Amino acid sequence: MYVSVVLFTADLRLHDHPPLRAALDGTREVVPLFVRDRGVADAGFAVPNRLAFLADCLRDLDSGLRRHGGRLVVRSGDLVEEVCQVVAEADADEVHMAADVSAYAHRREARLRRALEADGRRLHVHEAVTTALAPGAVTPASSDHFAVFTPYFRQWSRQRMRDPLGVPRTIRVPEGVGSEEVPSRAGLPGVSAGLAAGGEREGRRRFSAWLRQGIADYEDRHDDLAVDATSRLSPHLHFGTLSPVELVHRARGAGGPGADAFVRQLAWRDFHRQVLAARPAAATADYRTRHDRWRTERTAQEDIEAWREGRTGYPVVDAAMRQLRHEGWMHNRARLLAASFLAKTLYVDWRVGARHFLDLLVDGDVASNQLNWQWMAGTGTDTRPHRVLNPVTQARRHDPDGSYVRRWVPELARLEGLAAHEPWKLRGPERDAVDYPGPVVDLAEGLDRFRRARGRA
Ligand SMILES: Cc1cc2nc3c(=O)[nH]c(=O)nc-3n(C[C@H](O)[C@H](O)[C@H](O)COP(=O)(O)OP(=O)(O)OC[C@H]3O[C@@H](n4cnc5c(N)ncnc54)[C@H](O)[C@@H]3O)c2cc1C
Repeated sequence: MYVSVVLFTADLRLHDHPPLRAALDGTREVVPLFVRDRGVADAGFAVPNRLAFLADCLRDLDSGLRRHGGRLVVRSGDLVEEVCQVVAEADADEVHMAADVSAYAHRREARLRRALEADGRRLHVHEAVTTALAPGAVTPASSDHFAVFTPYFRQWSRQRMRDPLGVPRTIRVPEGVGSEEVPSRAGLPGVSAGLAAGGEREGRRRFSAWLRQGIADYEDRHDDLAVDATSRLSPHLHFGTLSPVELVHRARGAGGPGADAFVRQLAWRDFHRQVLAARPAAATADYRTRHDRWRTERTAQEDIEAWREGRTGYPVVDAAMRQLRHEGWMHNRARLLAASFLAKTLYVDWRVGARHFLDLLVDGDVASNQLNWQWMAGTGTDTRPHRVLNPVTQARRHDPDGSYVRRWVPELARLEGLAAHEPWKLRGPERDAVDYPGPVVDLAEGLDRFRRARGRA
């Protein structure tokens, strides 16, 4: 009897799951396996917010599998050793898993393939499971990847994507393969108070609600900080409780300018993945060096602390950083503002900011986080690498009545309208009544320092 192992990684769902479907087509019994990989923890990626969301996802995956006659096997340790152990216990012939893009994922996959093949077993790696289009599926004439989004998007949009797959009817798991208890978020320390719930059912519920109520207004309202009119599906995409292929199909089915704008954002996600797949070093090294001599933890410690804690004295930046801490999530416009402020106005190494984001973001993701940070720092794929976002102008435009600031910075809750964006303009008793720091840097001085550093003064 043929047995296979399906190794779940960043694809924690039953809908549209090519590895599971392929395994069930070719074999009678399947071991659905998740390994809590020690290597991920050793690299500092197993942070409380993502562990909590992951626990929700695993519990939901286990109950989904049980509804179809199966169960989830959970192990902890070195991923390659654990998979080989389960393969031996189940006497499995093959392993199916989704392709991934980071250098770590590539090394891990190569080690797993060698270990399995040495033992006469096979590894099948499936593309377009965690992306809508496989990295490398479209390339420009002269390179192995696209370095600019617009031409990438043009090609991406023309490709025919595979059809989404349904949920398998029956899953039979061989007897005798033991599992650890499926983890739970209960009692996990350090989790953000406002962290969203994970799991495939929750992801699908959110996505259906988004198609019904949110997507139509997305194009017009996605940059409005207070209205919060984006999908908030990023953690579900990060953990793969939703399939990007299915999202593209269903959004296109809904149609309209909002759906087009949403699909374009999903293409941004694929874009960064194809950059990282081709240039894995971009996770830590400048994609395009500008020969910056950044300020660092050693030379700008106080500024960095003020930024992390949301007390830079620039209300919209502080609101963004406090939302991050409270929810483990941040609006895209807020991420742009917070990143521009750290990397350009304070001229601090983008890696310091990227690390802080990865410590807290529930959707914290090597490709999307590092390459968006590089984009904003001007060392990545932005075609206008020296632009600096002015936090006051941006706040007036994207938080036009100050509600976002008042929601996240309670010290300013009594300031009306646009006054919340410039508390330093208050005078006398009004100023004395507001317990809020003055600006850590003068915007003109920050701009000047950055322009000089980039040789553009
Ligand atoms: C400095 C910085 C750091 C970021 N770090 C991350 C990260 O770690 N993980 C992450 O998923 N996104 C990251 N982003 C991208 C973006 O901010 C988030 O994906 C988005 O805010 C998530 O909210 P949403 O699901 O409501 O997005 P929506 O606006 O509803 O977009 C739908 C989906 O498209 C994808 N998407 C949207 N914008 C981008 C983008 N610029 N790059 C890549 N994918 C995108 C996301 O998967 C998102 O869920 C970062 C952006 C910046 C500027």
